[in-house]
Amino acid sequence: MADQYTFQNPVTRYPKVSPPEQHQPEPGLDARLDPRADLGEQSYRGTGRLQGRKAIVTGADSGIGAATAIAFAREGADVVLCYLPDEAEDAERIATLVEEAGQRAVPFPADLKDPEQCRELVKTAVEQLGGLDILVNNAGKQISVQNLGDLPSEQFDETLKTNLYAMYWLCQAALPHLPAGSTIINTTSIQAYKPSAHLLDYALTKAGINNFTKGLAQQLAPQGIRVNAVAPGPIWTPLQVSDGQPKEALPEFGHDTPLGRAGQPAEVAPCFVFLASAESSYVVGETLNVNGGTPSP
Ligand code: NAD
Ligand code: MG
Repeated sequence: MADQYTFQNPVTRYPKVSPPEQHQPEPGLDARLDPRADLGEQSYRGTGRLQGRKAIVTGADSGIGAATAIAFAREGADVVLCYLPDEAEDAERIATLVEEAGQRAVPFPADLKDPEQCRELVKTAVEQLGGLDILVNNAGKQISVQNLGDLPSEQFDETLKTNLYAMYWLCQAALPHLPAGSTIINTTSIQAYKPSAHLLDYALTKAGINNFTKGLAQQLAPQGIRVNAVAPGPIWTPLQVSDGQPKEALPEFGHDTPLGRAGQPAEVAPCFVFLASAESSYVVGETLNVNGGTPSP
């Protein structure tokens, strides 16, 4: 069975998907995604790189967060999986995969737009895992709106709350518990520097996440806590079919990258593993771009 260490052509590692037009109410379910995404269930092989580590992964039920939770577990970490209550079906599947890797999975349904629930998430992780040394801020909201005039104030507010405020609240709550050697990894996007015309609110949060990452990284480096970011390009996940893209754009999703195809969540997870593990000890305030070759800063 091929895994992430198998020598292979990145162009053909995964098929160039032309997903049929489809729509799901937000939050989209991985269970209903057509075609299904690769979360590394069969393909991710751990080598003990996160032995004994204790992680929070937000948005761990599906897409990039789910692939990251699976990878973390196979590398030896216990994981608190945060997700929206409507996503229990997806989350249960990922929790089972974490347990099958021999690690603890702590499911935590929550709405991270609420600061109290952010603090409760950190408290639960510290209690249930006996501490915390990896925080992955990955939950995100992305709703495509063609015209500024049609962008509702409520959406603008919710996108900022989910993508920016929750990161701030979670970092703040986690900090007193993080020993030296801990790592915070934020999920930004190519949208931070190449904003789509129809993603005004989303793209601005991703630029903000990059900026926050670089500032906080400098603040925490002297304490031995490293803060970095991962910036995916087009990755096939339920975010895209729950109004993240205009429906008619889905069949072409990711075709304009140099590799010519969309990426799979399993191709993003190894970046989180690298930034979480001690092997990246001199990597601080960096944004690791995972976008199929589109030039990015
Ligand atoms: P996804 O839909 O699988 O994951 C997003 C998750 O965010 C959801 O599963 C949900 O659990 C969580 N979430 C949303 N609102 C929440 C809230 N209020 N409270 C708690 N959890 C909430 O999609 P994904 O593409 O894997 O997204 C993960 C991250 O990757 C996001 O930050 C997204 O912006 C980023 N990203 C994705 C792409 C892409 O092409 N898919 C590209 C760049 C960046
Ligand atoms: Mg989900």
